[in-house]
Amino acid sequence: MAEIRIEHLRKEFGAFSAVEDSSFVVRDGEFLALLGPSGCGKTTTLRMIAGLELPTSGKIFLAGGDVTFNRARERDIAFVFQLFALYPHMNVRKNIGFPLLAQGIAKAEIRARVEETARLLQIDHILDRSVSGLAGGDRQRVALGRAIVRRPKCFLMDEPLGTLDTEFRDLMVRELRELHNRIHATTVYVTHDQLEAMAMADKIAVMNHGVIEQFGTPQEIYNRPATMFVADFIGSPPMNFLRFTAGLQRGARTVSVEGVPVAVPEIHDDVAMGEIALGVRPEDIRFSDASPLRGVVYGSEYHGTNQIVAVEMAKGLIKARVPADQNFRIGDTVGLELNHHNLSLFECTSGRAVRSSRHTQVQHG
Ligand code: ATP
Repeated sequence: MAEIRIEHLRKEFGAFSAVEDSSFVVRDGEFLALLGPSGCGKTTTLRMIAGLELPTSGKIFLAGGDVTFNRARERDIAFVFQLFALYPHMNVRKNIGFPLLAQGIAKAEIRARVEETARLLQIDHILDRSVSGLAGGDRQRVALGRAIVRRPKCFLMDEPLGTLDTEFRDLMVRELRELHNRIHATTVYVTHDQLEAMAMADKIAVMNHGVIEQFGTPQEIYNRPATMFVADFIGSPPMNFLRFTAGLQRGARTVSVEGVPVAVPEIHDDVAMGEIALGVRPEDIRFSDASPLRGVVYGSEYHGTNQIVAVEMAKGLIKARVPADQNFRIGDTVGLELNHHNLSLFECTSGRAVRSSRHTQVQHG
């Protein structure tokens, strides 16, 4: 297996810039999710790594070698678009072995590698069955088998679970991660679904308008978002923003929100007067009668183990995740206590996180 290194990769289509100055490393055996909304440049990035699209500028290294101008078939990469595309007239064995047959590999070796792959995917008992009669999960495993039987240096997957219903999708998310734990293949996986990315990936690159806004572990991205876009894109419900106008001083440990002093992690930047957003995750808000930060309950959604409560503040709605047995009525005034260890601050004009004792390790794109 192999490391993928991307350096200052750009792709322009005429005057339109689809990918802007992307740099990142996927270490040997790591699973990277390229995550972002439709049109942000995920597929274009993946196609450049695969050799299906030439970059406008920048470099791509695979296992230490510069492959920027190599053809797709010279890169030893398996590109999985759609895991259900099987040959319906062939049985499981022939479907899995097909890429090896196409490479002219000897029959005995094909047989051995197909059987080894089938054992890995736990489908060795159905090798001689026709694929047309298989259930969805087994079809998907056959398609995966066809990708891994070649033992490529890495896997590139473009929304492979895109068309599946939720239940089956959750099952395949678990299976893909388990497969990854067994074969440790360097993988780049494109998705617009934050839950898929969080559940499967070792690292996530969050993209927006062709730019990688943040590259980090799921924990870093969730807990220390580098930008307001990342904070808003990750999490369900997303991070709340309490906006206020202020200048911030290095060393400060409180800010004033809606006229109430709120403790925050120590600020490490001086920020000129302007609009600031205090970012707080719904689970970091607690109802407390003693808190002077107050709002009015607007509505709630019951989720069994907890409830999401919308609270109207002076400058808009925020959502709190509170215990399911907490009692209140719509229209009640509640006090809100914020978990000051987990708060983020953002400059609204640039959207960037203000550095603080919590954010010092954040990388910007
Ligand atoms: P989606 O999930 O919708 O495919 P994406 O993040 O994968 O989104 P890309 O497919 O990489 O996005 O496309 C990024 C932008 O580049 C889009 O605005 C798209 O319209 C544009 N684009 C992609 N390929 C081409 C092309 N061959 N010519 C012109 N524009 C293109």
